[in-house]
Amino acid sequence: MDEARTLLALQDLDLVVRRAEKQLDELPEKRAILEVRHKAADVRALHEKASELVHRHERAFAATNDEVATIDEKIAEVQAKLDSSQGVNPKEIHNLAREMDALKRRKDKLENDTLQTMERAETAKIQVAKVEDALEQLAARESELVARFREKGGAVQNTLEHHRTEREALAGKIDPALLERYEAIRAAKGGIGAARLNGSTCSVCRVELPSERVRDLREGADVGLCPGCRRLLVVRGFDDE
Ligand SMILES: [Zn+2]
Repeated sequence: MDEARTLLALQDLDLVVRRAEKQLDELPEKRAILEVRHKAADVRALHEKASELVHRHERAFAATNDEVATIDEKIAEVQAKLDSSQGVNPKEIHNLAREMDALKRRKDKLENDTLQTMERAETAKIQVAKVEDALEQLAARESELVARFREKGGAVQNTLEHHRTEREALAGKIDPALLERYEAIRAAKGGIGAARLNGSTCSVCRVELPSERVRDLREGADVGLCPGCRRLLVVRGFDDE
């Protein structure tokens, strides 16, 4: 295969590769997988917040319980003093009784707080469970989508790998300077870097070239440049010439 023909084969293969890549990229499963992952990230953030809330309420609950235990000790102390208060003066008994009342009021309030904190912790735990449920569902959905993507995309992926290998082999046979020009034009012009001269027409931009340009091209090298679209123009060496 001469160079001009190889260049056209490379161009044809590049279009096949591009189509396969587009096909993979446009599989609805791919978009759906990305959406599910995005959603899961949001839900994980919610999970972190809800868990933090549970911990905060649990810490508050533990702190209140500690304080209740301390007050219970004090109540026991005061009670012991009251129990052994025979012979102590009435003013002291009065003070002890007042202290006891204050301690009990404080304990009542703390116990009330404890109930409230427990309720809040329960609500937060329900929220955590809900979020965990949502995460599980999202994970299941993702695996399902990934499996479908592999199934549908697997064949395309295999063909793509095969074409890419073939492409590298072809590219290796082209003069590096020409290949570089081809790649640059291909990158700049929608994935097509080389065209054929069919009669007097460029196969890509369909511009009909003036007869003197055609003559110049035909008298020149195998690969020229289309004056219409500035792509490499293969003048001869292909089958439908
Ligand atoms: Zn052209």
